[in-house]
Amino acid sequence: MVSFKELGLVNTREMFAKAINGGYAIPAFNFNNMEQLQAIVKACAETKSPVILQVSKGARNYANQTLLRYMAQGAVEYAKELGWEKPQICLHLDHGDSLELCKSCVDFGFSSVMIDASHLPYEENIALTKQVVEYAHAHDVTVEAELGVLAGVEDEVSAEVSHYTKPEEVIDFATRTGCDSLAISIGTSHGAYKFTPEQCTVDPETGRLVPPPLAFDILDAIMEQLPGFPIVLHGSSSVPQEYVDIINANGGKMPNAVGIPEEQLRKAAKSAVCKINIDSDSRLAFTAAVRKVFNDKPGEFDPRKYCGPARDEMEKLYTHKICEVLGSNGKA
Ligand SMILES: [Zn+2]
Repeated sequence: MVSFKELGLVNTREMFAKAINGGYAIPAFNFNNMEQLQAIVKACAETKSPVILQVSKGARNYANQTLLRYMAQGAVEYAKELGWEKPQICLHLDHGDSLELCKSCVDFGFSSVMIDASHLPYEENIALTKQVVEYAHAHDVTVEAELGVLAGVEDEVSAEVSHYTKPEEVIDFATRTGCDSLAISIGTSHGAYKFTPEQCTVDPETGRLVPPPLAFDILDAIMEQLPGFPIVLHGSSSVPQEYVDIINANGGKMPNAVGIPEEQLRKAAKSAVCKINIDSDSRLAFTAAVRKVFNDKPGEFDPRKYCGPARDEMEKLYTHKICEVLGSNGKA
């Protein structure tokens, strides 16, 4: 058993309170390898942005839980080395699916966990979330819960269609579970194919797909029910078309990949939405950079020569998200 405090991590309580009052959102970036972590820490240290490092169940299996814990601890030390005196770094379990998994993460030094029981019937979602909250809060670990269902596929989480969060349920849910933040469904979606071409319109000038707008009316209704309560948006990658183009021009095949336009996320970040999850965009940045090296220099076989450029590209992306979309720069 190790407390997150021993690792130099923080939970989300203060981060979210400041973000809601300040009209910005905390970036929640997923990681599962060293280069991603280096890029996240460097971008956040340089912009002085608080950050949530997210690990999904799949990433935990991929990287090994022991190694992950020391990577998170290493992230804090690396941030200090980069001149960030008091790093505001949270280690968060993304889409925990059982009490056992959440408990194990709390015991391994996570400072925040998500219990995603949104696929269960309402009362069962409440019961499971409440159990996780009881265990986590006893260790000062914060808990994110989810109401409503996001469409899309990412790691083990997938759903064919989305179900928007019902604003009339949020007070009851938050009160009875005691959760610290709530992930909602208002039209964001997991993965790099967030909408089918049929759901989109086409920009006549560029020929690109234009996705349907987020349901800000539902967000407003939720905020009216729960004023000042931290809201989380999952599946909020923008799927930058320049990366998709590089991937497709260098041997990849990602037709019709489409994400959430950044101006919509910018608008959400100013509201009670205080955590915005971005995973697919860094996967795209990494893949685009690696494919380009492979295509340009087919003789290259030193992983540093393609993982290095991938790391640089991800750092650029993270910095852009922090400064131009979420507004969390200078807040830590
Ligand atoms: Zn998610």
